[in-house]
Amino acid sequence: MERAAAVVIGAGHAGLAASHFLSDRSIEHVVLERGEVANSWRRERWDSLRLLTPNWQCRLPGHRYEGPDPDGYMTMAEVTEFIECFAKVSSAPVRTGANVTSVRRVGDGYRVTTSLSEIRCQALVIASGACNQPAVPKFADLVPAAVEQLTPFDYRGPDQLPEGGVLIVGASATGVQLAAELQQSGRPVTLSVGEHVRLPRLYRGRDVLWWMDASGVWDQRHDEIEDLTRARRLPSPQLVGTPERSTLDLNTLASMGVELVGRWAAVRDGRALFSGGLRNMLSLADLKMNRLLDTFDEWARTSGSDAEVDPPERLAPTRVPESPRLQLDLRSGEIRAIIWATGFRPDYSWLDVPVVDAKGQLRHHGGVVDSPGLYALGLPVLRRRKSTFIYGIEDDAREVTDHLERYLAAQRQ
Ligand SMILES: Cc1cc2nc3c(=O)[nH]c(=O)nc-3n(C[C@H](O)[C@H](O)[C@H](O)COP(=O)(O)OP(=O)(O)OC[C@H]3O[C@@H](n4cnc5c(N)ncnc54)[C@H](O)[C@@H]3O)c2cc1C
Repeated sequence: MERAAAVVIGAGHAGLAASHFLSDRSIEHVVLERGEVANSWRRERWDSLRLLTPNWQCRLPGHRYEGPDPDGYMTMAEVTEFIECFAKVSSAPVRTGANVTSVRRVGDGYRVTTSLSEIRCQALVIASGACNQPAVPKFADLVPAAVEQLTPFDYRGPDQLPEGGVLIVGASATGVQLAAELQQSGRPVTLSVGEHVRLPRLYRGRDVLWWMDASGVWDQRHDEIEDLTRARRLPSPQLVGTPERSTLDLNTLASMGVELVGRWAAVRDGRALFSGGLRNMLSLADLKMNRLLDTFDEWARTSGSDAEVDPPERLAPTRVPESPRLQLDLRSGEIRAIIWATGFRPDYSWLDVPVVDAKGQLRHHGGVVDSPGLYALGLPVLRRRKSTFIYGIEDDAREVTDHLERYLAAQRQ
């Protein structure tokens, strides 16, 4: 059986960053990838998607965006190329088409079974992604068969959908982006709004993600965050990357004609039942956004940066619809398709080590998993608030690989 000191599962940016630091430390390893390098960006995203992080934040260890448009946002083809290029320049030992079907603890290491072969290793980095499958509520089964149901994994563009009304469930980054695209395609869109994170694209003349970085919010460490479980479950912010650098919030969508309804709570007799708490959801998101903008203003003042940015500003509160509908008859023909933009979850069905909790999440402390020599990268707030973003992987990958190196050294003694 083949042996390696370390195995990395997944050749997305997280697995490749781990590989970069393992090579730096001369730790012999292999990166196992079921598809191709950057597989998720190639296969699991819709056609019009662009990154919501600006080009200057496309930064991986030793490899960064150096094109003419630092404030722009990459298309999927550009992100794929960027990550592929990183794999090449760091000479990552990637084995493509190697689907990992089982990982078991054997002796003082792990046995990794793939569709191609078996490998024994002492240490293993799980970088298989946090968004392997769409999270769809159980009551989706009760939706009448005449209504087409899609997830963001199935959706490529408006032409794929029947003419007629679309109900989009979830108002985070995916939901608001698809709502805008489908409303613009001429289909009347109803958007079911649960908990969400409202952000302006630009604040005081700078990208809001510049503020997250400069003010230190993104660098907040996992062991400094009061409610880490909640921070890890936070939905993605309502942001879109467009050449116009425009804000896409619920006010924008309402002005386009999108109808807002509350959180979808149940299906009864073919009717979608929405929560009556829309007003609260909207004001909570406004409140949290304003608190974050206060933090930015405070940082600008105390760091002496006030003069370099525009004066403080506040967005208009989210307009609350007068009497949002509380139910919608899914048998009436008004809604022809539903898109579940209700988030994603990881898939660890291949992991035969007891480190996954009842909610399907890995038990780990800053990427050090609850089993000797087992590590994770690329999960939300793994070590910092920025962990899940391309921009955030370098610091996490360096620290996790440091730990792995110390583990291997201790094993040798
Ligand atoms: C819709 C969407 C938009 C996003 N937009 C941004 C953005 O604008 N900016 C940003 O910085 N981040 C963004 N993210 C977040 C994040 O950067 C991506 O989720 C990113 O793909 C995570 O990188 P990763 O390497 O951790 O995982 P992935 O890119 O998902 O890589 C995991 C790899 O593991 C492979 N794999 C999985 N299981 C197995 C197995 N059993 N055997 C072998 N291989 C396996 C997969 O094929 C995949 O190639 C977005 C995420 C989503 C879902």
